[in-house]
Amino acid sequence: MPKPQNAMTIFQLLDKSNCRKCGEKACLAFAGAVFTGKRPLSECPKLDRHIIDAYSDDSQNPYDVEQNRDDYLEHLKKQIAGIDLKAAAERTGGRYENDRLTLKVMGKDFSVSPAGVLSTDIHVNPWVVAPFLNYILYGKGLDPTGDWRSFRELADGRERYPLFQKRCEEQMKQVADSYTELFDDMVHIFSAKQVDPQFQSDISVVLQPLPRVPIMVCYWLPEEGMQSSLNVFFDQTADKNLDIGSIYSLGAGLAQMFTRLALRHGFAATQSNHHD
Ligand code: SF4
Repeated sequence: MPKPQNAMTIFQLLDKSNCRKCGEKACLAFAGAVFTGKRPLSECPKLDRHIIDAYSDDSQNPYDVEQNRDDYLEHLKKQIAGIDLKAAAERTGGRYENDRLTLKVMGKDFSVSPAGVLSTDIHVNPWVVAPFLNYILYGKGLDPTGDWRSFRELADGRERYPLFQKRCEEQMKQVADSYTELFDDMVHIFSAKQVDPQFQSDISVVLQPLPRVPIMVCYWLPEEGMQSSLNVFFDQTADKNLDIGSIYSLGAGLAQMFTRLALRHGFAATQSNHHD
């Protein structure tokens, strides 16, 4: 099996039902155990054979997609060279200083030079880079209205919604169900704002991955035989400020980031148990 780059990648492959048939308390814990070499992937009985086989075949290595993504990012960075960054700063809610355009990405500075070179004081997550560059290149810069829409209500969102639901909403729900500090982390680590619960949810938090593209995460706790649920909402201007592919990337990227946080938490618990 090619060595996965992180436990997240393994988690993405799993059924995410937390059925415990592998002997772990949750899929997150199993993903962590596989990544650290304690368990083979084949010990999840819910995994399709072809997924296990794919990991034994380098020609089908899913990390090939990363090369395509890198090519796409290079293409976007080259386009930055052809635009007026000062005007783009005004349009996008950023600031222009020392020849660079800087935007706040979840409370942290994220800059680009006229040559398309990125700099930031945070780790550069690849999933944020394409939306960041697309927002600068093509965003209309409309102010959010406070009118929240689901992903499927955005332009071209309907056909992509099943994938968005799986990669963003379902995955975030998994994390929220098992990692109770998730919403506190959103506020304290990612500069989110807790707002009055919307749509009769129990918790509503607004993240600001780009200045004019707020994302609201609403979570409903389980009650009386009803499962918990989680939905993600966007301002009705989101599809004018950003293309639907980038909006998808932000949602799925956030879900990945939160899963990593929970996994880190899970590793700590596993290690302390081990020492007991
Ligand atoms: S990893 Fe597989 S067996 Fe384990 S809890 Fe998740 S779905 Fe169930």
